[in-house]
Amino acid sequence: MVSAIVLAAGKGSRMKSDKAKQFMDINSKPLLYYSLKVFDASVVDEIVLVTRSSDIDYVREEIVEKYGFQKVRKIVAGGKERFNSVSRGIKACDKRNKIIMIHDAARPCVTNRMILDSISGARRYKACTVAMPVKDTIKIVDEEGFGIDTPDRRTLYQIQTPQTFDRETLEEAYERLRISGDTDITDDTMIVERYLDIKSKMIEGSYENIKVTTPDDIALAEIYLR
Ligand code: C5P
Repeated sequence: MVSAIVLAAGKGSRMKSDKAKQFMDINSKPLLYYSLKVFDASVVDEIVLVTRSSDIDYVREEIVEKYGFQKVRKIVAGGKERFNSVSRGIKACDKRNKIIMIHDAARPCVTNRMILDSISGARRYKACTVAMPVKDTIKIVDEEGFGIDTPDRRTLYQIQTPQTFDRETLEEAYERLRISGDTDITDDTMIVERYLDIKSKMIEGSYENIKVTTPDDIALAEIYLR
């Protein structure tokens, strides 16, 4: 049995908009609608939706009930950083479920194929993430903006979501994170890597599985989702 945590508790400050990013319109529907639609129609057994506490009622009425999503079992308040929101989501998941998927609502172009491949990956490897090989050369730069090193491109992937884990692995990694007090966390595969030394398997995502971050991304997502 599988739980999916859908994260929508960010501030979206890079969007420069009055409306929170997760509720901005993409082809006349809120950004959050698209991820929920794909997960609701998938094999996952429950969706735990994480949003800002002030948005819980709005999300329930204007998105979950309005579009009739059946698998959203809980809507919980997120925390200051993304990993705080994930931690709250994990606590709200049904304890019987052995697999937990974590997905950024800011990636509306997730597909059912990615969900299925991720679940298989987590069963087999304990930890996996949807990702794509980078197309550009990537530079390490110094504080003055000069390139100082060029990692071998063949070893570099851009990491997307869903990220999917065996439940015990994820819980233990989060417990170690809590004890460490570290805050430099940008995704969940990083946590199992750092505290449990577990390598995450890369699962093929898509170059269309973008994270809607800046205004340009809205136009792109509109094309991909048409
Ligand atoms: O800020 P960033 O683009 O990394 O956010 C990725 C995802 O995590 C978004 O879907 C955002 O809503 C979510 N998030 C969250 N709680 C936070 C920060 C981000 O749920 N405190």
